Amino acid sequence: MPPKLSPSGALRFETEEHTLCGLCRTPYKSCECKGLKDNLHDWYVWHGVPSTMIPSAKDRIFVGLPPPPDNSSRTKLVKRWVSLVNISMIMGHFDANHWFSTKWESLNASMDARTKLLNEMVADYVAQLPTNTELTVLARVLGLQRRAIAGKVDGIAKEAWAALRIFLSGDWACMSKAGSKLLMNAFNTRDPKKYPRDDPHLERILDSGVSRIYGVMEMGFDKKGYCLAMEPGRRPCGVGTSTTLETSDERLISKKARKRKTTKESIPTKKRRRVES
Ligand SMILES: [Zn+2]
Repeated sequence: MPPKLSPSGALRFETEEHTLCGLCRTPYKSCECKGLKDNLHDWYVWHGVPSTMIPSAKDRIFVGLPPPPDNSSRTKLVKRWVSLVNISMIMGHFDANHWFSTKWESLNASMDARTKLLNEMVADYVAQLPTNTELTVLARVLGLQRRAIAGKVDGIAKEAWAALRIFLSGDWACMSKAGSKLLMNAFNTRDPKKYPRDDPHLERILDSGVSRIYGVMEMGFDKKGYCLAMEPGRRPCGVGTSTTLETSDERLISKKARKRKTTKESIPTKKRRRVES
């Protein structure tokens, strides 16, 4: 049965045909990355299930699904995210349907009410990155560890801005785990005078939106999966994103690969310098 995108934005598809391990990019049943890092793995082993039969629930990505139409509404794109969370074995611990029916309408209104302030919050977060105590850790999870400080800051800032634009568009299936963490960080380090903690809109955006996405990404992706999104091969859709934002693979994975290549080529230069000095 071919995958089906309903007018509401929800997806229906045969899970196995559209699911890969995000790390090795093989069908998740034949993946040996052992991405399943929770107790379930031990449970399978305890019950004598052969390792090749243990489903790798972490770092699962979705591929080949019908893309949402350009300029899809935020609600339709969030519906798509809800479908993917429901299908994902491990993310499905979060009751996304219940969340959608009880939280989405008010969250959507709060996002409209605080769009400008969210942009300012990310700008403030990005501005203090050069002195941020987490800079090294953030650079490492984004594969930027070999860059000079300015390069690290630039790479992290780009992903933070991408995450905000994706968040506001509703196309959350294209948000990287790193991006969701950066949005959490922007909230956690915000100036309470400028972004009051009793502002109901901001609190709702944090509790029902940003924290939820990050929580789901934490469930679904492990430490190696920071550069992954649920749909890493699809360009984010939605108002204001379709023209310039790349896929999360283009933003993060291929850059890492390019960086490794550059580093290898730079070894003779380093040796040369040593000889010169
Ligand atoms: Zn794998």
